[in-house]
Amino acid sequence: MSPILTEQQRALWQSLLTAAHHIVITCHRGPDGDAIGSTTALASWLRRHYPEADIHIIAPNIFPDFLHWIPGAEDILVYENHEDGVRPIVEAADIVIMCDHGELKRMWTLGDVVRDHPTPRIMLDHHLDPEPDIADLVISHPDLSSTCEVLLRVILELEGLPFTTSEATSLYTGMMTDTGAFTYASTRPEIYELISILLSCGIDKDKIYRNVFFTYSPNRMKLMGYLLYVKLDIWKKAHTSVMTFTNAERRRFGAVNGDTEGFVNLPLQIYGMKLSIFLREDTEHPCIRVSLRSVDDFPCNEMAAEFFGGGGHKNAAGGEVWGTMDDALELAKKAVNKYIDQLKN
Ligand code: 5GP
Ligand code: MN
Repeated sequence: MSPILTEQQRALWQSLLTAAHHIVITCHRGPDGDAIGSTTALASWLRRHYPEADIHIIAPNIFPDFLHWIPGAEDILVYENHEDGVRPIVEAADIVIMCDHGELKRMWTLGDVVRDHPTPRIMLDHHLDPEPDIADLVISHPDLSSTCEVLLRVILELEGLPFTTSEATSLYTGMMTDTGAFTYASTRPEIYELISILLSCGIDKDKIYRNVFFTYSPNRMKLMGYLLYVKLDIWKKAHTSVMTFTNAERRRFGAVNGDTEGFVNLPLQIYGMKLSIFLREDTEHPCIRVSLRSVDDFPCNEMAAEFFGGGGHKNAAGGEVWGTMDDALELAKKAVNKYIDQLKN
């Protein structure tokens, strides 16, 4: 496997971490399996290698229940709604390690605190176009499946085979969730060499799969049925589907955070479908969260950047619309019209 760190990056990693006493590890808002997996694996590994250091993981906001079982997730601090308690921890940090995002704004208000705190930063990520000059050490590999894969390879290069079963479990979880259980963004053969290494660390991959994907509450299962039966709109000529989800529906189904996770992928199981758009009202801000998923070459990230102030990967991207659901639907129509030539064939 070819190395992903340059000599200079290795040296910088060692010197930044050796000098650190208060380490803060962060991730993007709306943490997913890759964000929680990479931060928990990194925190655990750092605690073993730098036992003198004080290490905290801070997430910008709460993360879904189906990720709570991940080893170490119980120690994650949440910034939103706990600002006064958590801000001093960021301000005491002598290094901030940002995982699974290439832009400070993906941490929302926590990003502002990090931006204002003058301390060295490391970025560990796999998103396209990292924001320039926000980290002293940028380890960014958009060609890799997940931040967990980036971290796994970094640690292998630094240390050989040093994972506990818990760390390996966290890393596998992020690789699995960011690739839809290895159904996309996962054709490079090295991924399976890495999985083999994680298996040798004692992970139970089938249990990890069930922990993440087979955890529906009865409400979530009913909500899925409702959205597919009542709310799924197919724009046939464009091979596109649109589903919307409002806060009124959230209340009606007693949906909790994370209950709509993955629903955006479902319409792509329909024959010939190329693009799936999921629009949902944010619970905390007056905006609509947009999720895009595609197959083959359709560039969700370009559509997200052009129409929804966001970004992401070719086949999975997201953004927001600061307005009503009708505004978001209108914009989705415009976006699909703009890309109609790529979608209709
Ligand atoms: P999701 O639809 O699960 O919220 O996001 C899918 C992917 O799109 C994420 O893994 C992330 O890479 C990207 N993404 C989602 N929201 C944003 C956003 O607001 N900005 C950027 N740059 N990427 C996003
Ligand atoms: Mn990721």
